[in-house]
Amino acid sequence: MDPDPRLDRSSSNLALELARTRPARGTDRLASAGELARWLEERRELVGDPEADTALRVVEFRALREAVTDLLEAVVEGRPAPPDAVRRVNELSAAVPTWLRLDATDPRRPVSRRSTASAGRASQILAAVATSTIELVGGNDRERLRRCPAPGCGRFFLAGRRAAVWCSAACGNRARVARHHARRRAAGPSGAPSTDEGADATRREHV
Ligand SMILES: [Zn+2]
Repeated sequence: MDPDPRLDRSSSNLALELARTRPARGTDRLASAGELARWLEERRELVGDPEADTALRVVEFRALREAVTDLLEAVVEGRPAPPDAVRRVNELSAAVPTWLRLDATDPRRPVSRRSTASAGRASQILAAVATSTIELVGGNDRERLRRCPAPGCGRFFLAGRRAAVWCSAACGNRARVARHHARRRAAGPSGAPSTDEGADATRREHV
């Protein structure tokens, strides 16, 4: 089968996307073949058109997810890569080899294209997720990999800034609110005046 041009095996998004199908809070989004079919459908931009029987290989997708999660966790926790997970992503990547070729349809502007060995769509998608994991864990993006520590999140993400801690502004706010409440509880019922009043006082002093 021809590779789908959207099946970009150089994208690290696929690894993160698969890892996120089992959120810290909430249900497993790959609990059944039907759910995998929906997940693939929602990611057509990344994985292309799945064949009808792709979702039937949901057990293989869950097994790969376990390996991906183990590898990403090892990175963010500074642990060595687990050998079983390394073996699994290497096997799946090697099952559908890819290579670069020069497309000189316009000889003045030749472009690099990635070709994929003939295989069913499910194998291609599994290989694409495995490759994206290998590139993420073994490449420069590894330094930007984080796991969001906000209550109930735990999402893996790539930090845009070195100091980034949360996966989103919403998670940052939720974590700050949780910290604020924890401090208030620790301080007891009669706390100090609120920071807003403090800020107003400061502003008045400077007028
Ligand atoms: Zn988050």
